[in-house]
Amino acid sequence: MNFVKSELLYQRAIKILPGGVNSPVRAFKSVGGTPIFIQKGHGSKIYDVDGNEFVDYIGSWGPHLFGHNPSFIKDALLEAVQNGTSFGTPTELEIKVAELVKELVPSIELIRFVNSGTEATMSAIRVARGFTKRNKIIKFEGCYHGHADFFLIKAGSGALTFGIPTSPGVTEGIAKDTLVADFNKIDSVKNLIQKNKNDIAAIIIEPIAGNMGVVPAEKTFLQELRQICDEEKIVLIFDEVMTGFRVAKGGAQEIYNIQPDLTTFGKIIGGGLPVGAYGGKKEIMSLVSPSGPIYQAGTLSGNPLAMAAGYAALNYIKTHPEIYDDLENKSQYLESGMINNLRMFNKKFRINRVGSMITLFFTEDEVKTYNDAIKSNTNLFSKYFQNMLKRGIYLPPAQFEAFFISTAHSFEDFEKTLNAQRETFKIIFE
Ligand SMILES: *Cc1c(COP(=O)(O)O)cnc(C)c1O
Repeated sequence: MNFVKSELLYQRAIKILPGGVNSPVRAFKSVGGTPIFIQKGHGSKIYDVDGNEFVDYIGSWGPHLFGHNPSFIKDALLEAVQNGTSFGTPTELEIKVAELVKELVPSIELIRFVNSGTEATMSAIRVARGFTKRNKIIKFEGCYHGHADFFLIKAGSGALTFGIPTSPGVTEGIAKDTLVADFNKIDSVKNLIQKNKNDIAAIIIEPIAGNMGVVPAEKTFLQELRQICDEEKIVLIFDEVMTGFRVAKGGAQEIYNIQPDLTTFGKIIGGGLPVGAYGGKKEIMSLVSPSGPIYQAGTLSGNPLAMAAGYAALNYIKTHPEIYDDLENKSQYLESGMINNLRMFNKKFRINRVGSMITLFFTEDEVKTYNDAIKSNTNLFSKYFQNMLKRGIYLPPAQFEAFFISTAHSFEDFEKTLNAQRETFKIIFE
């Protein structure tokens, strides 16, 4: 396998795009090497500019529940484009997608479409603040909610201090309103609430975290969060940008049987086009402009091409509920194969999986929190990644990511993956 054309394109790209990319993780910084330029995708496979074929486990970081370029989404797009690409006026399709979301996710009474997951979470926080007339928010270490200023905060020395910005450009003024608790540790939440009585507008969480690798919340933890939010009149936001329509048709909230006040969506909801959405209780969402005073707008929001792709995706989910059993069976098969491979090499590394979201952590300890996750041996992961890539298996280029299985993945893909994994293990565990 050679990457001559990719390397040439990368040399051109770094002269004009920061780091050669439009989103940091694509640059392979944490695993080394230079990024591969992809030309096309079909089903479970992607093909690069040098003609190499890969079994893809990134799935564009989540949207491709059905693999690359499924015909029902392609056809919907081709039909929609005949009528024009954007009007900046209401269209019927926006209502149809909204009604579908509500049908699949019953906690949604009103919904607003935006253009990315980041826009969804940042708007949901504004609405929670406007609704509660409070300023502070609680997030969890290791959870990612997009790149809005007030999410780029980590706990300082001990989670009880004010937040410290993790990115230059985020002001201390903004950082002080973001409090960071420990995932799956209810006491850390209780402490923050006690110290900030009546000041907390919202708690936002990935109910199944996917951005520190896959780390599901414990059910009792989420139940307690729900109860605390009710008692303290805090808006509970489930960030289901990754889990929405992936782990179940109704997302993580269906699996846990817990209704948040607001939910954010992205990824699958756009069928591969840039879409995000936030929605939930009517009492809260009716404050959004123009029905209420909380401003939020978007020139291309509800864009007809994006809505056409989103409708095709969600309608497929509605009419094919069996896909979740299929995804579970396939993912389980791959997981057991990976467990066998690890056993063959006498390694007890952890695999966390919820449905079609999986992470192999290069640590032998249980992973239930961010601090557990970062015990992983990232050097070993980098070698693993590079060796898998050379064997035609495209994993997310970072330890702390979920990899995704789609309905398009086949048992043949898994056999190829497991073979590559055995060869890779032989090299990296020698
Ligand atoms: C991907 C992701 C986001 C950000 O979505 P973008 O579309 O990349 O802005 C927010 N929250 C979660 C949980 C995500 O996985």
